Amino acid sequence: MRAVTWQDVNDVRVETVPDPRIEQPTDAIISVTSSGICGSDLHLAGPMGRYMCRGDILGHEAIGIVEELGPEVTRLSVGDRVVVPFNIACGDCGYCRTGLTSQCSTTRVRGQGTGAAQFGYSALYGQVPGAQAEYLRVPQAQFGPVVLPHDNEPDQRYLFLSDILPTAWQAVIYAEVPPCGSVAVWGLGPVGQLCTRIAWQLGADQVFGIDRVPERLAMARRHGIHVIDTRKVSDVTEALRELTGGEGPDAVIDAVGMEAHGAPPAVLLHRSAGAGGASAEVVESSRDRVAALHQSIDAVRRGGTVSVAGVYAGPFDPLPMLQLFDKQLTMRFGQANVRQWVDEIMPMLNADDPLGVMDLVTHRLPLESASEAYWMFQQKRDRCIKVILEPGR
Ligand code: NAD
Ligand code: ZN
Repeated sequence: MRAVTWQDVNDVRVETVPDPRIEQPTDAIISVTSSGICGSDLHLAGPMGRYMCRGDILGHEAIGIVEELGPEVTRLSVGDRVVVPFNIACGDCGYCRTGLTSQCSTTRVRGQGTGAAQFGYSALYGQVPGAQAEYLRVPQAQFGPVVLPHDNEPDQRYLFLSDILPTAWQAVIYAEVPPCGSVAVWGLGPVGQLCTRIAWQLGADQVFGIDRVPERLAMARRHGIHVIDTRKVSDVTEALRELTGGEGPDAVIDAVGMEAHGAPPAVLLHRSAGAGGASAEVVESSRDRVAALHQSIDAVRRGGTVSVAGVYAGPFDPLPMLQLFDKQLTMRFGQANVRQWVDEIMPMLNADDPLGVMDLVTHRLPLESASEAYWMFQQKRDRCIKVILEPGR
């Protein structure tokens, strides 16, 4: 089959690899009809490259059709249309029973000290081949995949249940925005866009979105979000205080994670091959990589909550302990516990589209265009906000 493989830092290619097969009685094989590229894939392709091995298959957002089942997967049938949560969880251990599927003790990767296994995260999360491929082996399929109606709805309606919708949902729930309260979201990528919309739907009175990419700001504004453009506003904390009666928002959400922005480049990490063989230098600054987290801690009101959806890893995880202590803040983090939130989100994936999932995708491309798609998403070119790869196309 064809699959998107990691070759080197910022070198992602589509290659022919062996088809997956049933290995355990709880496995399923699905033919992938759509697979998203996530901000986390950009981390894996770039700054987290040291965790990757040449040939690893990327991707953890999948929807598809069940092709084959192990004998213990009795709740699915061949031909079912399913969306696959990115955490691989048994559904039956002490953690899964309380909803913490990201900590599943059956699939947990003890050697690395990390949580439940995940698709497409290389050795860091269990070395499970990823979903940007024609076929995907789904371990623990007796629990994970969510069966969807065989309706005429495009994959886009449901695909984000695999990751970014539950991620954003959990970030908003963890933010504990009080009734009629305010929340500010750093980063208006796909996760941040959904955070702002969910916060609004769940009753926040004031929702702010912070970014610097014009089309991302414009998309949030179209959804009624009060945006702050960091190209124009130098002191975001002060701006938020003014907008919230002097103290700052009740809650803040970091939907950025490690990212390069604004500050003078400090570390030249790599050269990267771009679309059509063009090459460009990507410079990233370690100070800047944690800017959003520090800004959000600075801006939240005293006694407020900091909810971190963005991923930090390796050297990019310093926390301002004095400020956290002094402001008596609550912080919550973590990989989304996908299955915990699916039932709450599903009713909102209707024709009225209150979360605007049909409005998030800017590009749908054949799997073969993956290198180009990664490059475009990473560089925020061609007004790219969310890309879906379609292996069958
Ligand atoms: P993305 O890269 O498209 O979005 C990041 C956005 O942050 C971009 O629009 C960028 O312009 C903006 N940004 C960068 N620095 C900023 C700053 N200092 N201030 C304000 N905005 C800034 O990625 P995405 O797909 O939206 O994912 C966002 C984050 O969520 C990533 O770190 C990803 O790894 C993480 N994530 C976590 C989970 C989870 O389970 N917790 C799941 C999915 C994604
Ligand atoms: Zn993801």
